[in-house]
Amino acid sequence: MQHVDDRGGLSPPGKQTSRDGKLAIRSIQAVRGMNDILPELTPSWQYLEDTMRRVIQAFGYREIRLPLLEKTELFKRSIGEVTDIVEKEMYTFEDRNGDSLTLRPEGTAGCVRASMEHGLLHNQIQRLWYAGPMFRHERPQKGRYRQFHQIGVEAFGMEGPDIDAEVIFMTAQFWKALGLKGAELQINSLGTTAARTAYREALVDYLRGCLGDLDEDSRRRLDSNPLRILDSKNPQMQTLIAAAPRLPDYLDEESRVHFDELRCLLDAAGVDYTVNPRLVRGLDYYGKTVFEWVTDRLGAQGTICAGGRYDGLVEYLGGRPTPAVGFALGLERLIALLEAEGVDLPDSSPHVYLVLSGEHGVRRGMVFAGELRDAVEGLRLLTNCGGGSFKSQFRRADKSGAAIALVIGDDEAEQGQVTIKPLRGESAQTTLPQAEAADALAQLLGLETSA
Ligand code: ATP
Ligand code: MG
Repeated sequence: MQHVDDRGGLSPPGKQTSRDGKLAIRSIQAVRGMNDILPELTPSWQYLEDTMRRVIQAFGYREIRLPLLEKTELFKRSIGEVTDIVEKEMYTFEDRNGDSLTLRPEGTAGCVRASMEHGLLHNQIQRLWYAGPMFRHERPQKGRYRQFHQIGVEAFGMEGPDIDAEVIFMTAQFWKALGLKGAELQINSLGTTAARTAYREALVDYLRGCLGDLDEDSRRRLDSNPLRILDSKNPQMQTLIAAAPRLPDYLDEESRVHFDELRCLLDAAGVDYTVNPRLVRGLDYYGKTVFEWVTDRLGAQGTICAGGRYDGLVEYLGGRPTPAVGFALGLERLIALLEAEGVDLPDSSPHVYLVLSGEHGVRRGMVFAGELRDAVEGLRLLTNCGGGSFKSQFRRADKSGAAIALVIGDDEAEQGQVTIKPLRGESAQTTLPQAEAADALAQLLGLETSA
């Protein structure tokens, strides 16, 4: 396709004619709010993901991998028409068949859809987890992006407070394993549908009494989703919200017992929490337990993890009634928290940089590199490629962060030798038979040789 440029000429797409008449290629940038995660930062992500995966597996949960695209209807029905997500945040488009599809804004809906579709729920207990990117068309700011990443956990088929406690224990274990200290757990109970209906009436009565002080969002939600008003982030609404009727005063007996038992389980495990009577998830199928982990170290975007019980959802989507509880946490906010708390990350730079010279040196060296990687467990070895003088190779070695350089030139290759040169500290370089290098390296680096 050809474009007419601003001077009326034809230019290929992506090209503009500059003033001096030369073609300049316009560079293309990423979509706003969708971040590249550069190699400098991926060690933090890997640390986060590896640690969380270990914790999740220690609890016996199994991973489920789900499509990024689902039918729009799924999200409308499961998240609800009158929520921020469905009203204004979804990336929705028609595909070539005219079907309305949406990039997933969260993981629960797809997880429930897949579990129903593949018969994982009927008369069964399931403990599942997923991870990956989610998409919401929000105003990008610190801690809020248009593509962001979540890890989520969903447990199906268990109705007691023990499983609520288990998923909360798992989140507490995440912070412990990651070395994070500053997160606070808030819990609440939303009660049964009947209790919420009674509360909703009281809340709407109260809010109608102060109609003039409601912001536009809240006024719009008054009829459709009044509980969500309690979740407003508008500072001007906070006094009004603080004086509103409290959900705990409307709690039914069954939910009260459930909540009390959950609190006992948390107490017994020494997991600290505060009860926040204004904590809600403004969707009909959420009931009983809700919880959030919050921190004051990330400014306005302080919720790092949110979860709760959603016993109504499976039935709402056409399945048999199935108790369910789960949570999702935002990885970008956790990365920011790791940084804010100054958590030490494991070193991921190479241990060894292999300096090579001469035709025989390069040939032998490339093979030798493979032998060492096989022989020393967990060894990270970077081989010099692209030639270069000793001086420039050592400069690269230094820049790579490696602790040790190995050198093989034509002479070493011929004599079956290798030179080991520590790059940090004062130790002298030594030359030894290649056959002994694996043991020597393992000892220097505190690694094990494979049996
Ligand atoms: P918020 O109140 O901050 O908008 P939410 O209630 O929309 O959050 P959930 O749908 O419960 O968030 O998602 C769970 C977690 O995912 C949040 O606690 C947060 O850590 C993360 N998260 C949600 N939206 C974003 C976003 N746009 N960018 C980055 N992280 C996000
Ligand atoms: Mg949101």
